[in-house]
Amino acid sequence: MSRYFCHEHPAVLSVGTRVIDARPGAALLGETPFHPGGGGQLADRGVLCWSGGEVTVVGVDASGGQLWHLLSAPVEIGGAVQAVVDPAFRDLMTQLHTGTHILNALVFQEFRGALVTGAQMNDDGTARMDFDLPDADNDRLRGPLEAAINDVIRQDLPVRYRYVPMDDAAAEPGLIRNRSVAPPPDADGLVRVVEIVGLDRQACGGTHLASTGCSRPVRILKIDNKGRHNRRVRLGLATAG
Ligand SMILES: [Zn+2]
Repeated sequence: MSRYFCHEHPAVLSVGTRVIDARPGAALLGETPFHPGGGGQLADRGVLCWSGGEVTVVGVDASGGQLWHLLSAPVEIGGAVQAVVDPAFRDLMTQLHTGTHILNALVFQEFRGALVTGAQMNDDGTARMDFDLPDADNDRLRGPLEAAINDVIRQDLPVRYRYVPMDDAAAEPGLIRNRSVAPPPDADGLVRVVEIVGLDRQACGGTHLASTGCSRPVRILKIDNKGRHNRRVRLGLATAG
């Protein structure tokens, strides 16, 4: 798979393009601003507008190496289309995803390389991350962790990207942070590294804020044990207003 359009142009959420393949309820486009999700991030939602009308995109299937847009109705569309990502949904995922990086970085530093064993972002503004953490005091962790995350948000640290060869990424301790899901390398063998400047670097294919200050404050909702070596941290974005 070549690089995602949304990696190259993260601010472009509407693209005029053409349908290059279709079946009832699904469409493959020449170009797409949709992020397919992965690593716990939900696929973008939005709409496709074509001469026959408009249909909601409810998900993206990237399993075959192409981005198939999954539609809310069993229509088979063709020709020119405008592909439009729902900006509020993208922003929600991007804030949550950036928040999980900050959480992940702080836990990684505090607990000497504790790895992520799972992550899931939800459309209600919450997310969870599971860490391989054998001995942590959940109640004592919660307050300081929440304060530390919000301190990073207040510092408004910039977020940057670069592409490195997969072998180099694999050789750098901590760069591949997720024990179960490492992002796939591009067709050119490069893997995308996301840096929150001054805080953290890790390989990731998701969407991220331009700087940490673009996030609403984050709350740690709960920390609990899921097995002897697993701590589940639930976080949520503070509601607006
Ligand atoms: Zn990420």
